[in-house]
Amino acid sequence: MFIEPSIGRSKSSGGKGQIEVICGSMFSGKTEELIRRLNRAKIARQKVEIFKPAVDKRYSDSDVVSHDETMIRSTPVDFAGDILLLSGDCDVIGIDEVQFFDEEIITVVQKLSRQGKRIILAGLDMDFEGRPFEPMPSLMAIAEFVTKVHAICMKCGDLAAFSFRLSDSKMKVMLGEKEAYEARCRKCFFEERRDVT
Ligand SMILES: [Zn+2]
Repeated sequence: MFIEPSIGRSKSSGGKGQIEVICGSMFSGKTEELIRRLNRAKIARQKVEIFKPAVDKRYSDSDVVSHDETMIRSTPVDFAGDILLLSGDCDVIGIDEVQFFDEEIITVVQKLSRQGKRIILAGLDMDFEGRPFEPMPSLMAIAEFVTKVHAICMKCGDLAAFSFRLSDSKMKVMLGEKEAYEARCRKCFFEERRDVT
């Protein structure tokens, strides 16, 4: 369980800025963990804003909704730069589905953290071929704290770090409806993906 090292140290009380990354496969509970941290910041009376890429229209336009229907209000944005314009005087910024932003998000996150804000990012660290999913790896490198959460392999019940796509689509960005993916452990993932080296 992640324990905040600096809760209560909001920008107004002299926060130094901090970047946290929550990564993992589909069904690993990334969004739930993001929401948990944001709710705790709210309890600490910090000003919280949540953003997500407008491309993620799976559930609703203005809420971050995890697979188990936990909900928190959020703002969909078309470009990473919009977050700079919209984050104003908030202390804590959550960004969900970060893998759908382009590399501009790295500059945006750097700028926001230097303003003394706490940035919490959640996203897929690997694509459906088991390859690093930029810009997540770069964000993990510049973060103070990286938390990898795991799903359960739907084949064998072991810990799962891979998102196995059940359809034949080769699109990198194919939104994560439950029926299109399964969480898989390394062994079960590569057993059925012999085309991947
Ligand atoms: Zn397995």
